[in-house]
Amino acid sequence: MPQHRFLCRDALERPGASRLRRPGPDDGAYLLFTSGSTGAPKGVPLRHANVMAYLRATTARYQPTPDDRFTQLFDLTFDLSVHDMFLCWGAGAALYCPSDAARMAPQEFVRRHDLTFWFSVPSTATYMQRLRILRPGLFPSLRWSLFCGEALPRRIAEAWAAAAPNSTVENLYGPTEATIAITAYRLPADPDAAAQLPDIVPIGRPFPGQAAIVIDAEGTPAPMGEAGKLCLGGSQVAEGYWRRPDLTAERFLPPQGTDPGMGWYRTGDRVRETAEHGLVFLGRMDRQVKINGHRVELQEVEAALGRAAASDCVAALAWPLDAGGLARGIVAFVGRDDMPAEAILEACRRMLPPYMVPSQIRPLSDWPVNDHGKADYKRLRQLLE
Ligand code: AMP
Repeated sequence: MPQHRFLCRDALERPGASRLRRPGPDDGAYLLFTSGSTGAPKGVPLRHANVMAYLRATTARYQPTPDDRFTQLFDLTFDLSVHDMFLCWGAGAALYCPSDAARMAPQEFVRRHDLTFWFSVPSTATYMQRLRILRPGLFPSLRWSLFCGEALPRRIAEAWAAAAPNSTVENLYGPTEATIAITAYRLPADPDAAAQLPDIVPIGRPFPGQAAIVIDAEGTPAPMGEAGKLCLGGSQVAEGYWRRPDLTAERFLPPQGTDPGMGWYRTGDRVRETAEHGLVFLGRMDRQVKINGHRVELQEVEAALGRAAASDCVAALAWPLDAGGLARGIVAFVGRDDMPAEAILEACRRMLPPYMVPSQIRPLSDWPVNDHGKADYKRLRQLLE
């Protein structure tokens, strides 16, 4: 691979190895792949300038010091791991990596090391709450409790605030295309005020220097309080997808009337802007779902299922949903009953990352279609209820 240069320990110890070129703001920092609705993952290249904009904003906001101790709960394929590592190391703080066993319910790990910065998907807190681990006063050492990556249910945020009473709880929001997180909402310290929030904690306002606009179906700015599509702009926004000019033109199209010099990204998230809370998350415009914080385009699962079952009659649905309507897994319907479900699942496992593999296959001899001859998702969903 001539375009890659591997630097192993021996090479670094050799004289002159330290003369690596310092990257400039336009150099690539990382390329992350995220689920694609056309059936193949899409790459998002982020530049050093994007990452530095994020790190400057969060360093100013959270003021980490060399005395801080951070959690490192995110897999390196998730951009939230960039926050863990570089916000921490930039301040000279210490990063604590849990074992695989401690990753899902890391309460002992946080307590043993007196960690001060928590950062996870809300699912981790939901899981701890379900196991009745999240007791009031559990985490006295935490001073920041940050959540990101999927909707944060208010009841989970409230339980966490009681469990980490010396910390400030924030809900961060952002797609990979806008570098880690680009808006944040701070939970009120007063429990009575927190209890008044919507069931899903708002996503707040963009970081200083970044922009968010809500547009209506015509592409013009939606009035305050009206639901619309969220577009993000500013120095955190990527320039486009890797080698996908078609998709880049569609999703990185600046909204009407905005500064053409600024990068914009159309998120596909439905939101409403309110004077009190800033942006309130209402769900997706498309079939993208979050499974334990992992971004999944159900069409990508269906493309793999179609190949696995050698059939066009396949459908993937987010199921089950928890009490707040958030997805916990994927169920697949296949319009043939002459192939063992395990064989289909095995083929899916070879094509998809573990979190995208359906938890069960439901074979159907009678495939429900709508007036356009396409899979009737409404009827399929009824079969689950
Ligand atoms: P990813 O690119 O994996 O970070 O996924 C980005 C998507 O995750 C966003 O477009 C949202 O749909 C969802 N998301 C991220 N953070 C939040 C949040 N705090 N609340 C609701 N949805 C979120």
